[in-house]
Amino acid sequence: MSSLFYLNKYLVRYKWRLILGTIFIICSNVFFVQQPGLIRDAINEIEDFIANVDPQATSNILKQGLWLSGLYTLLSILKGIFLFFTRQTIIIMSRFIEYDLKNEIYDQYQRLTFNFYKKNATGDLMNRISEDVTKVRMYLGPGIMYTINLFVLFSLVLYKMLSRNAELTLYVLTPLPIMSLLIYFVSRVINKKSEKVQAQQSLLSTIVQETFSGIRVVKSHVKEESVSAKFEKEADLYKKNSMNLALTNAFFMPTIILLIGISTILTIYMGGLQANNGTIDPGEIAEFVVYVNMLTWPFASVGWVTSIVQRAAASQKRINEFLEVDPDINPNHDAEQEIHFDQDIRLNQVSLTYENSGVTALKNIDFNIKKGETIGIIGKTGSGKSTLAYLIMRLLDPSNGNITVDNKRLDELNLDAWRAYMGYVPQEHFLFSDSILNNILFGTKEDVSFERVQEVAKNAGIHDSIMNFPEQYETRLGERGINLSGGQKQRLSIARALIKTPDILVLDDCLSAVDNETEELILQSIKSELRSKTTLIISHRISSLKYADRIIVMDDGRLVEHGNHEELMSLKGIYFDTYKRQELQTDQNK
Ligand code: ADP
Ligand code: MG
Repeated sequence: MSSLFYLNKYLVRYKWRLILGTIFIICSNVFFVQQPGLIRDAINEIEDFIANVDPQATSNILKQGLWLSGLYTLLSILKGIFLFFTRQTIIIMSRFIEYDLKNEIYDQYQRLTFNFYKKNATGDLMNRISEDVTKVRMYLGPGIMYTINLFVLFSLVLYKMLSRNAELTLYVLTPLPIMSLLIYFVSRVINKKSEKVQAQQSLLSTIVQETFSGIRVVKSHVKEESVSAKFEKEADLYKKNSMNLALTNAFFMPTIILLIGISTILTIYMGGLQANNGTIDPGEIAEFVVYVNMLTWPFASVGWVTSIVQRAAASQKRINEFLEVDPDINPNHDAEQEIHFDQDIRLNQVSLTYENSGVTALKNIDFNIKKGETIGIIGKTGSGKSTLAYLIMRLLDPSNGNITVDNKRLDELNLDAWRAYMGYVPQEHFLFSDSILNNILFGTKEDVSFERVQEVAKNAGIHDSIMNFPEQYETRLGERGINLSGGQKQRLSIARALIKTPDILVLDDCLSAVDNETEELILQSIKSELRSKTTLIISHRISSLKYADRIIVMDDGRLVEHGNHEELMSLKGIYFDTYKRQELQTDQNK
């Protein structure tokens, strides 16, 4: 429950809506509780009328009847109007808070680092911002509204009943404590069962989601039937759980109605006795019966509201835990905006161990990159090449050692400025479901001309392919657009990095899916485009490194060889072997 306290700051922010909403609830109920009194008056009038038949009375009773029913209608309308206002304030308040909370969570997502995303599954992250926030909103809207309503209505009805007939009030209220207890216990059972149903439901959607995204694998392995069988089994369990829940639910309402019925009978019986003694009018019995019924729904909703609150508390707990996560990379937003890079980037005894897997991906790397150099990095899969790029981009900080830029520690530079200074084409490229133009422009903050976009696309070797698409640069990608081949995606990612004319460019194995000729073309244009810029080309193919001034060879997290092509060849080590093997393959392919 205490996790919901976090939301109090929002309730304070929107306090006027909450206060106004409460006032509206009171107004609405004040009109509502006048109605039973009118029913009493009407019945008493009829009673009188039957008791003394005189012709004058007939027109009186008609007038009275019209007057009372008119008043009754008016009260209903007034009640309805204020109910409308209540919803307009409290439910809208909950929407405002939902909006603020979502933004708060989303900002935190943007603040968190790469490490966090490596540790958490996407589905989980999505849930937090959609389902959890929805559950919290249910508490803020209906949850709060119905709770206030219950208290207000109950107090007003109690006041009305007590001021009319204290003894009868006692009888009417006797079943209420039993009812509250019962509702409490039954709703706990219902909550447990519905949680089971929900868990099963999300399991089902996970199965479906995975099957859809892996449909090609499923079909190529002829697994349709076993996938269907698995789904059927889980769906069956879902059905059983749901039916079990429905059974409990089915008992719930009739039990409440039974208790209300008992209350009504008590009222009529005891009221009847009192009326017989002449202490009360028959109209009063009717009035009390209506009071009892007025309390039915608010009391029956107690269980529902409790479950809303419990679920919201669980969701808010998850949200709080997430909001408390500290980004493990200090962005130094106060540091100078300008990056000074005139000499070199140095890696001093840098090691990196991934917390989640315990893998030491880089071991004591000592190395420097001079301004304007093109550095090639080669090594087998898993040798630590991408990790090296992450460190230079500062997506991660080293576990040991440090990186300096012109003798200033990288982790003391302004992170945003550093990243803006660099162009990075990751190994796992990502394109947005947007137009090709916007995907390229994603790399830049400034306004750039369309000519520049085309120039960059030409340099990345993708312009011609784009011109062949139906809507050229306006062609949409992804979900509702076209799909690109692996090589095209890589080239588009390169264009995105080139558009900001970076001072340092890092290409992480981003030419693996293009053929040798295209690779040559891209490398040449990158070279001419970034003549004086510093470039880091990571690859497992030696052919990509032909323009590198220096090459380093990585193996199992260590820097094992270092030099230019000729020097490395004369070492007759890993580089030499790789060269020979790849040369052989190219020859065979010819
Ligand atoms: P390369 O790019 O040369 O293929 P990587 O830098 O991707 O190599 O990986 C180096 C080592 O670090 C591998 O053993 C890999 O399993 C491990 N590794 C890479 N990324 C992660 C990660 N996010 N979490 C845990 N281990 C990782
Ligand atoms: Mg890699």
